[in-house]
Amino acid sequence: MDLQQTDVVVIGAGAVGAMALWQLSKREGLSVVGIEQFGRVHAHGSYAGESRVFRTAVHEGGTYVPMIQRSRELWRELERESGRDIYVEVGALSIAPEGFPDLVTAQGTVREFNLEHRMLSTEELRAEFPQHRVQDGDVGLLDAHGGGLRPEVAIMSALDLAEANGAQLHFNTPVIDIEERPNGVVVRTTQGAWLARTVVVASGSWSTRLSPELDDLLRLQVLGLTWFMPKRPELFVPERFPVFLRDAGSVHFFGAPSLDGYAFKACTNPEWPVFRDVSEVPTHHTREELIRIGQRAAELFEGINPEPVRESVHHCAYTPDRLPVIDRSASGRIVTLTGLSGHGFKFAPKVGEWAAQLVAGEDAYVDPRFALAAHLERLAVTGPYTGGGH
Ligand SMILES: Cc1cc2nc3c(=O)[nH]c(=O)nc-3n(C[C@H](O)[C@H](O)[C@H](O)COP(=O)(O)OP(=O)(O)OC[C@H]3O[C@@H](n4cnc5c(N)ncnc54)[C@H](O)[C@@H]3O)c2cc1C
Repeated sequence: MDLQQTDVVVIGAGAVGAMALWQLSKREGLSVVGIEQFGRVHAHGSYAGESRVFRTAVHEGGTYVPMIQRSRELWRELERESGRDIYVEVGALSIAPEGFPDLVTAQGTVREFNLEHRMLSTEELRAEFPQHRVQDGDVGLLDAHGGGLRPEVAIMSALDLAEANGAQLHFNTPVIDIEERPNGVVVRTTQGAWLARTVVVASGSWSTRLSPELDDLLRLQVLGLTWFMPKRPELFVPERFPVFLRDAGSVHFFGAPSLDGYAFKACTNPEWPVFRDVSEVPTHHTREELIRIGQRAAELFEGINPEPVRESVHHCAYTPDRLPVIDRSASGRIVTLTGLSGHGFKFAPKVGEWAAQLVAGEDAYVDPRFALAAHLERLAVTGPYTGGGH
């Protein structure tokens, strides 16, 4: 098989791969190839589903805040360069009973990083956000720089820009395997093979297929999306209805305002088991699951029809502690970016920036806990992710 030569191959043109391609394509004199198993922007990746929640006041703690703040700048840069609307800064509203652990952590994050926000009492929530059926004792945290991201538009924009900057993109081209040799890495696909100085593996939920060393570490969490029709859709438009996270008892909902004018997104996850391979993941909710989700949604939102008008089921690769894997192999030839654990879309641009820096051999600071060896050390103590993350 003839080997085509290039400086960098990026495997996977999803959230991370697209951002890596965009960043790498800005580097002078670097030949960049992107290889994606499906078409340009598709419905099968972890990014699919119209919107993603962007929060700066994250309940996962301060580790993520600098990554998110840098990503916010990069989201704006992507908008400027592409001329498209990607980041809808309508705020992110967390509603939970006072003292709820995730809310307390988010309040700590707000204090530590001095993030612009508002705390709302039960009465203020009821007055300002009548779309939510607020329970006695619920309080709100409105993260001013939170909002919604439009994932398909973001990925299309990053890929278009990468291509305009000279990257060569190949779609409908699954990578079969990668093999490190003394003079580079061979990337074999269904359509031919490349010899690259460096390979960036950004293959998301499919990562263990190409990188067996991730086998024990990564598990696939199923995540479902549902959209509901409110009786008064005018109350659920972005100007009046921020993206939200809601916790009530053991129920967690997240969602976004109506972008289509008739339905808004409100999602909660049934107790799905974790899986090892994408081929095992269910492709739709069952009827019983949709009925249960609709009943819970009707308890939390005012005047909605409890039957979802749209639904889809997705998956994402999780690590046990939900920290991402950002790693360069000892040879420096393979950069692995995966395990974004159901919350990584918001900081994907920062991961893409790291990819470009790691490929260039620059001394970028990456949290040492993100290294594969550090993950595997912790895994030996904790065991793999078993589910329940959202
Ligand atoms: C339903 C759902 C809701 C979420 N909500 C949020 C949210 O609100 N906020 C947030 O920040 N994050 C959220 N996340 C998480 C976020 O969307 C993911 O963490 C992120 O998309 C993962 O990016 P990725 O690049 O690793 O994977 P993907 O985006 O799936 O990209 C991987 C790409 O690699 C390609 N690929 C794989 N194997 C090969 C191969 N062998 N050859 C060629 N190509 C290959 C795939 O086709 C795919 O295009 C959510 C995730 C899900 C599933």
